[in-house]
Amino acid sequence: MLYAIVSDIHANLAAFEAVLDDIGDSVERTWCLGDLVGYGPDPNECVDLARQRDIICVVGNHDKACLGGLDLIEFNPDARRACRWTMEQLTPENWTFLDNLSEKIVLAEFTLVHGSPRAPVWEYITQPEAAYENMAAFDTRVCLVGHTHVPLAFYLPESARACERRWLSGVGPLDLNAGRWILNPGSVGQPRDGDPAASYMILDDDAMTVEVHRVPYPVEKTQQRMEQAGLPGNLILRLSFGW
Ligand code: ZN
Repeated sequence: MLYAIVSDIHANLAAFEAVLDDIGDSVERTWCLGDLVGYGPDPNECVDLARQRDIICVVGNHDKACLGGLDLIEFNPDARRACRWTMEQLTPENWTFLDNLSEKIVLAEFTLVHGSPRAPVWEYITQPEAAYENMAAFDTRVCLVGHTHVPLAFYLPESARACERRWLSGVGPLDLNAGRWILNPGSVGQPRDGDPAASYMILDDDAMTVEVHRVPYPVEKTQQRMEQAGLPGNLILRLSFGW
């Protein structure tokens, strides 16, 4: 069966809608690796969509912070400002939805977390060394992570003692049939790999392959909404460049 993996939507409704349109009804279910909110102008609309579509979600650091569940001192000033703004916007229903999300979900051969299996809310996996250390922190063959906003794969061949890192965007389907994997689908709402197009991944659990898809969306629509909301200029600008 096919599954769509999305992550780091960050209240970017135009990007989220474009990705959900691209997915259409081609998949059995959509999984989200956290950070539905934070940074962007439409937190309630994005949480509403996730709830309506029955998307399986884990919690991200921004989701937690926007509920007051994390010390904002860990955030840079722009993220902190966006977080405080989000906190004021969330409806009680959406607050409760985010508050009830788990840090880790295991579905058959797949572990879902936001950051890393050993530190689900905070750790960024960008380097093969950190990926290797994290291989001991989950029991399934594949772990799905978000948080860095960069589509990447880390591969541990059987009986190897180091991970290989592979770029996932623009390379076609990746075969997962051997070894163990940590996979990141990139970000829907704030890509950081130099490509402003929204990023998500399709998983085929019969063939055991994944493929990253990029979806251009009307960036300026989100930027206008951010300006209206008075969100920080750097957060508005970065969406044009994908950083
Ligand atoms: Zn994020």
